[in-house]
Amino acid sequence: MSTSCEKNHRNDLALFGGSPLFERPRSTSSLAAPDFECFLTYSRVFYEARQFSNNGPLVRQLEQRLAQFHGTTHCVTFCSGFWALVLVIKCLALPGRREVLMPSLTYRRMGDVVSWAGLVPRFCEVDLRTLAVSAETARPLVNEDTALLLGVHPIINCCDVAGLERLSEETGVPLFIDAVESVYETFQGRKVGSFGRAECFSLHASKLLNGFEGGYVTTNDACLAGRLVRMRGFGFYTPDIVQEFGMNAKLNEVHAAMALAGLDSLEVQVARNRGRYQAYRQVLAGLQGMRLVPFDESEQSGYKSILVELRGDWPLTRERTLDLLNAENVLARAYYAPPLHLRPTDYPTLSGPLPLTERLAERFMLLPCGHFVDENDIRRIGALLRFIHAHASVLQGEVFV
Ligand SMILES: *Cc1c(COP(=O)(O)O)cnc(C)c1O
Repeated sequence: MSTSCEKNHRNDLALFGGSPLFERPRSTSSLAAPDFECFLTYSRVFYEARQFSNNGPLVRQLEQRLAQFHGTTHCVTFCSGFWALVLVIKCLALPGRREVLMPSLTYRRMGDVVSWAGLVPRFCEVDLRTLAVSAETARPLVNEDTALLLGVHPIINCCDVAGLERLSEETGVPLFIDAVESVYETFQGRKVGSFGRAECFSLHASKLLNGFEGGYVTTNDACLAGRLVRMRGFGFYTPDIVQEFGMNAKLNEVHAAMALAGLDSLEVQVARNRGRYQAYRQVLAGLQGMRLVPFDESEQSGYKSILVELRGDWPLTRERTLDLLNAENVLARAYYAPPLHLRPTDYPTLSGPLPLTERLAERFMLLPCGHFVDENDIRRIGALLRFIHAHASVLQGEVFV
C-alpha cells in the first residue's frame, strides 16, 4: 500500500465528489475484541450455573479482579457508567446542599448525570495544561451549597487528583472522580481507582475495557460499597426491608464474561494502542499547526485515544477540518464541544462565563484509534492531513457538489 497521499487534486477529496479514503469508517472508538474462545470459556461458567444475572459468579469474579487491578478494597459493577455515576453522586452528596461542582469541558452527558441525581451542575474552568478541572479552577466556586466535587480525568493523562483531594479536605466537600478515560493510568505512580471517596469507570464497547455495556465503581469505603450494592439491585438483596432508594442497575453475566476476557488481554491491547500512538507521532511530526497531545511517559497510560490541537497556524477551522476528514470516512471528532455550559438543557445549571473553556473547545479534535485502525491506516490519515494542509487555500468556503 502506498504511503504517499492517494489524493492529488482538490476534487479527489470526498467532500468535493471524490471517493472516500476508507471504504469502512475509521472511528475514535476502541472496540477492543478479546479472543472469542476466551469469552466463550468465561460464558460457559454462568451458562452451566444457570445464573444469568443478580450477582452471579462472573460478576463477583470481575469485581474482585477489578478491585485488585485498581488497588482498592471494593469494586461494584453496574449496567452502565452513567448509572454508576448517578448512584454514587446520590450517595456522596452532602445532604441539604444542591450543587455539584464540575468542569464544563467534559463528557457530553455529565450534566444529565447530575440532574438525574436530583442536583444542579455548577460548571467551572479547566486547567490549560491538563484540560481538566483542578483545585485552582474549582476553589473560587465552592460555596455553602456545594454538595460534591466531581473531578473528571481528561482523555489524555490525568487531572491533578492530589490537588483536588486537598481542596476536598480544606472545604469538607467530598470528592468523586469520573475515571472512565483513565482505566490504565497512574497518577504520581499510583494506579487510578483509589483517589477521592470513589472513582467510576465504564465498560462500554468504545472504552478501553469492553463489556459491551457496563460500568463499575472502585472505593475503599465499605459502607458506600454496601449501599451501592443495595441500590443497584433493590428488591433482590433486601426483599422485605424498604430502606434504600433503589433501581435496577445491575451488570449481567454475559457482559461480565466479555469484560473478564478483555481484562485478560488488556496488556496486549495497551501495547497495540501504544504502537498506534507512536505511528501518529511519526506521521504528524513536523506538520505545521497540528500538535499531538503527548502522553506523560513518566506515568502508566492506556494510550487509547489520539488527541490533536489545531494551533493558530493551522490553516482551516476545526469544523472545516472535521467535515473534510469525515467525508473520507476518517471519523475524527471534536473534543468535548460544545462545552456543557453552552448546551441548552431542560434542567437548571449554574455557570458564569468560562472564556478559557470556550477557547479550548474550538481547538482540539480526536483522531481515529482503537482495534480497527492499523499503522498503515495511520500513515494514510497522516498523508491526508498533509494534503489538506498543503491545499488549504482551495478547501475553505462553500462546497458545491
Ligand atoms: C463514556 C463515558 C461515560 C459514560 O459511560 P457509559 O458506560 O457509556 O454510560 C462517563 N464519563 C465519561 C468521561 C465517558 O467518556
